[in-house]
Amino acid sequence: MLAPASVAHAASPPLRVVASFSVLADMVREVGGASVEVTSLVGPNADAHLFSPTPADARRVAGADLVVINGLHFEGWIERLIRASGYAGPVVVASQGITPRLAGLALDPHAWQSLAHAKRYVENIRAALGAAAPLQRQVFDARAADYLQRIAALELDTIARIGQLPAQRRRVITAHDAFGYFAAAYGLEFVAPRAGSTDNEPSAEALARLIREARAKRAGALLLENTGDPRLIERIAREAGIGVGGALYSDALSPPGTVADTYLRMFAHNVRTLVEALSTLQPSSKEAQ
Ligand SMILES: [Zn+2]
Repeated sequence: MLAPASVAHAASPPLRVVASFSVLADMVREVGGASVEVTSLVGPNADAHLFSPTPADARRVAGADLVVINGLHFEGWIERLIRASGYAGPVVVASQGITPRLAGLALDPHAWQSLAHAKRYVENIRAALGAAAPLQRQVFDARAADYLQRIAALELDTIARIGQLPAQRRRVITAHDAFGYFAAAYGLEFVAPRAGSTDNEPSAEALARLIREARAKRAGALLLENTGDPRLIERIAREAGIGVGGALYSDALSPPGTVADTYLRMFAHNVRTLVEALSTLQPSSKEAQ
């Protein structure tokens, strides 16, 4: 006797989703739950700008039902990888529909650093999972609705916390220009010796200018990032004679079981770190007068 349709459907294997990097993998897990099996090409604490795919990555893409990428030229290696893998299934661009900002002359890919844009990412992922597994659509809709509520709650909390910082305590130096969307959304100013990717070296003039600004305490806080080389920020700290105020998670989550192992935990950690670093800053000589 044939099993009833509902039993056959419950036993159907999970949708195999390959995400380009850890933030997207977490969002897909949130929306997909047990109905998806997600892998991330670029792992925790790893730099997607400098990623170079292996034959094993091509095999993972070949075996996928769905591929999810950020877009905005974040994954410069993805088109070649997909071509090499022979994958012919859907490729979802999670940032589809946001208004991109520019970082210099290039598109700034770091749109997940705004919770408003993250909502769009979740909507795009929900629609893509629903199209790939129509029988699970209700599950995806319910899980996405719950997730969107948690994102909205964190958004209110973020606006309130950063809103308490005085106007002269809103300047941050980080290693690369990854927080433009964050800055625009929440009213901070970020400066970085490196432009929107990590594959460029800062000019001596740009570095010297940042060191002068940091020394004059015109940059409120100096923060590391979890991806990439800490030496640039450490050098600015040493030459400017100021401390490093902690580390932000820019382009990757932390490993499972640690402080920033989901998108929401990463974002909340960044907000706490920023507010703390900017609040505990020594007043500049000008402010102290
Ligand atoms: Zn980046």
